Amino acid sequence: MAGTVHGFQTEVTKLLDLLANSLYSNKEVFLRELISNASDAIDKLHFLSLTNPDLIKDDGDFRIRIRADKDKQTLTISDNGVGMTLEEANEHLGTIAKSGTEAFMKSLSGDAARDSQLIGQFGVGFYSAFIVADRVTVLSRAATAAEGEGVRWESTGSGTFESEQVSRDHRGTDVILHLKDSEKDFLETWTLRQAITKYSDHISTPVMLWEEKFEAPKDGEKQDEKKEPKFEYTQVNDAKALWTRTPKDIKDEEYKEFYKHLTSDYEDPLNWAHNKVEGELEYTSLLYVPRRAPWDLFHNDRKHGLKLYVQRVFIMDEAESFLPNYLRFIKGLIDTNALPLNVSRELLQDSAVTRKLKKALTKRSLSLIERLAKDPEQYATFWKEFGNVLKEGPVEDYDNREQVLKLLRFASTHNSSDAQDVSLEDYVKRMSEKQTKIYYLTADSYQAAASSPYLERLKSKGVEVLLMWQRVDEWLMGNLNEFDGKEFVPVTSSDLKLGDLADKQEEQEQKESSEKHKDIIERLKKALGDKVSDVKVSTRLIDSPSCVVGEHGQMYTSQMKRMLEAAGQSLPEEKFILEINPTHRLVEKAAAEADESRFAMWAEVIYQQALLADQGSLKDPAAFVRTLNTLLTQQ
Ligand code: ADP
Ligand code: MG
Repeated sequence: MAGTVHGFQTEVTKLLDLLANSLYSNKEVFLRELISNASDAIDKLHFLSLTNPDLIKDDGDFRIRIRADKDKQTLTISDNGVGMTLEEANEHLGTIAKSGTEAFMKSLSGDAARDSQLIGQFGVGFYSAFIVADRVTVLSRAATAAEGEGVRWESTGSGTFESEQVSRDHRGTDVILHLKDSEKDFLETWTLRQAITKYSDHISTPVMLWEEKFEAPKDGEKQDEKKEPKFEYTQVNDAKALWTRTPKDIKDEEYKEFYKHLTSDYEDPLNWAHNKVEGELEYTSLLYVPRRAPWDLFHNDRKHGLKLYVQRVFIMDEAESFLPNYLRFIKGLIDTNALPLNVSRELLQDSAVTRKLKKALTKRSLSLIERLAKDPEQYATFWKEFGNVLKEGPVEDYDNREQVLKLLRFASTHNSSDAQDVSLEDYVKRMSEKQTKIYYLTADSYQAAASSPYLERLKSKGVEVLLMWQRVDEWLMGNLNEFDGKEFVPVTSSDLKLGDLADKQEEQEQKESSEKHKDIIERLKKALGDKVSDVKVSTRLIDSPSCVVGEHGQMYTSQMKRMLEAAGQSLPEEKFILEINPTHRLVEKAAAEADESRFAMWAEVIYQQALLADQGSLKDPAAFVRTLNTLLTQQ
């Protein structure tokens, strides 16, 4: 071939190496990928022909054809879809089009077993042809191009491809696989039929296989007479879009296979909901919850959204207007008669119909997740993957706040591990009669939360505290007031609002204690000066000598500070209230110190310790260590 030689994008070369070298247990996936590309090409042309019927006037019967040639050892997948120009072929079949190339490269480890898992995550697409072929030829012509503007593309999958302009008398694409000797099985009708049935049942375009035609012997013909076999294309699938069928007639396997076709995910979804709605607002929706989060779930520029069909015609991918952002992990499609065929993204954004559909689909998604939550094991999988996204819900979606709150799960002092499986309803159910608030603690890690001194008093009273350490938690809790009429109170708040939980005797004791320890309180205030806003006898400490609390409820945790600092915001210097536990040995020892300059060192240690426990770090750790060592070594 006398075409131009091009180098593949580095990422493609790596992917191809990977495909060639990793053992593929499921080689037939190449058929799914190529049929799916053919079907996409036909959908695209179908869409274009809505406004430009001339494009298909010579051939209006969309179809995909698959033909094996045993003599040439080739398998050809043909479609009469939108086709490609030379430039498009060079671009689309020479690079990985997805924005994830960089992430893909980064995630490659060189460990074949691990990397072959990754291929699944990123979708092998067109290049999966090289799993079974040692040479691939593509012949194509764009639907808009003239006869002389066809293209021939060819590659052996090792570093380069060749392409050139050729003449082609019809639109559409042939992908010709020159099969490896080891993959001749894919020339057998039986093997092909099996695989194609599996991957094309839900495709709305007919998929035809070139098969031997069996004719009953005619009268007078001898049974054993040798005849040339006759071949013809027979349709393999029923070419009825899956979502248009009646839900009860669709098998789970079909739903799963359709999900894979739709998303190029290689894993089964966690569950799905298929609804056909008639009446004023007619639509059919098929929504899936994936098993695994995509790598870019938290990237702002990540594309997401449902596939949109209008009257069964494919209109666009990733129509994001139908679901709120916090449900961006839901995959699936919507098919509606309520929108015009020529609807654009812009039109979708400010259409009243879209808003109504969004409301309905949000409800459907939430009840789909509620269904998942009934199975704790499945929900744990879901929560691990998508919990942090769902936490955006109560703030983003005021209308459904209570419903989303019920779907959240937290770690808690009720558990002895970091398992996040406590719902707010569980918490409220376990509350004693005297408790009227929901207590929570945000920290840098589970460890830091679980061993926080702020929990001591509440623990001793048997009050459960929700433990949080995800980035989103601070923001979420900062935006929530209550659940089920019960106020959220951070245990770091200066006023724990214990209400009936604080018994009278304790209060009396504390009052007396404050009175009794007035002395050390005054000395501490003097020694620490304006480093602290106040010093008090604590109501919450049992095992720790001291802690710091914010003046107005919540403090910035170090996590929050890092976030704000990263965003270039300077924080006002924070001043804390120092709370002390006067019966702790360390505090007693300090109180017994008569020398004020040594007492100042004790004060420093008591204060810095409290800061350290809360913040996880100190501004000047060396100074702290020096002071501590002086106290430890001087008698
Ligand atoms: P994806 O389908 O996810 O985009 P693929 O690797 O499967 O990734 O295909 C890459 C691109 O090549 C497609 O997006 C499309 O532009 C083009 N392409 C592949 N097969 C065909 C085809 N049969 N007809 C037209 N274009 C095709
Ligand atoms: Mg594809």
